[in-house]
Amino acid sequence: MKYIAFIAITVIMNACCATKSDKKESGDLSEKYASTITAEELKTHLYIYAGDEMEGRMTGTKGQKMASEYLRNFYQDHKIPSPIEELNYYQPVPASYFKRVKDPKDSENVVAFIEGSEFPDEVIILSAHLDHVGVDDEGNVFNGADDDGSGTVAMLEMAEAFKQAAEDGNGPKRSILFLHVTGEELGLYGSAYYSENPIFPLANTVVNLNTDMIGRIDPNKADNPNYVYLIGSDKLSQELHDVSEAVAAKYSSDIELDYTFNDENDPNRFYYRSDHYNFAKNNIPVIFYFNGVHADYHKITDTPDKIEYDLLEKRTRLIFHTAWEIANREGRITADKL
Ligand SMILES: [Zn+2]
Repeated sequence: MKYIAFIAITVIMNACCATKSDKKESGDLSEKYASTITAEELKTHLYIYAGDEMEGRMTGTKGQKMASEYLRNFYQDHKIPSPIEELNYYQPVPASYFKRVKDPKDSENVVAFIEGSEFPDEVIILSAHLDHVGVDDEGNVFNGADDDGSGTVAMLEMAEAFKQAAEDGNGPKRSILFLHVTGEELGLYGSAYYSENPIFPLANTVVNLNTDMIGRIDPNKADNPNYVYLIGSDKLSQELHDVSEAVAAKYSSDIELDYTFNDENDPNRFYYRSDHYNFAKNNIPVIFYFNGVHADYHKITDTPDKIEYDLLEKRTRLIFHTAWEIANREGRITADKL
């Protein structure tokens, strides 16, 4: 009896302590890899990605193809694989898919993938749209540095951080799909296409964290620029909302999480207006990260020099920590509000 009781106690103690130290270690690791996301690297990428050479990245144009190539080259250079086939990072979206678009052209979503070490079939999708609105009649470039150059370079930095973790033997337990969607500005086409032609079954898609415009300060927030608007986190999953809040409190307590636009009655209806909605409507929990509109929104003045790189770094790190927790926590996040 005694002996058995002794074993039982030992087992319980081990279970307790292993979990605790795992958690602590995992937290430190999240911090360690988040610190590789820097304002400087975000800025370097964004000056190229939103530079005049990309000609405003209008879906199907030469400039958009250059943007896609930039993303592909980044993943290739960092040895982050494609989920489709070796060295093929493009999910084609045919011209015929852009139904309400005049003179549509072939385009593509750009995808990269880090396979989970424990639950490879469970996929977390990080997304941002790769396209913008092109050039005006006089040939002025819409740089789209904030929209959505900011979300795009945030994804690159997060991918680099996860890849570094994987190389160190600390890769995510669940898989991460980096999904750069095309045709957002024309009507959320790339994300709609992915949701109808998913590379991994939607049933295995745990969450979509979508980032669109996180590099500026909403004039209404001038008194506290260190904030991010979160939209959708509690719509399908209380668990996701709670995890998101806990992660922010632990790692990014200086950032205010602002839920103004999460209100069902908000007239802007942002929940329905970016790519995450194509996942939400398939009952996949989402969080949309956003910093609001500003005077340069959809103007030729949305340029890289106006981006708040220090804030962009903080916001990107918050999203990374959230993805890290969802990828590494014991249980899969569920759509518990369905
Ligand atoms: Zn956008």
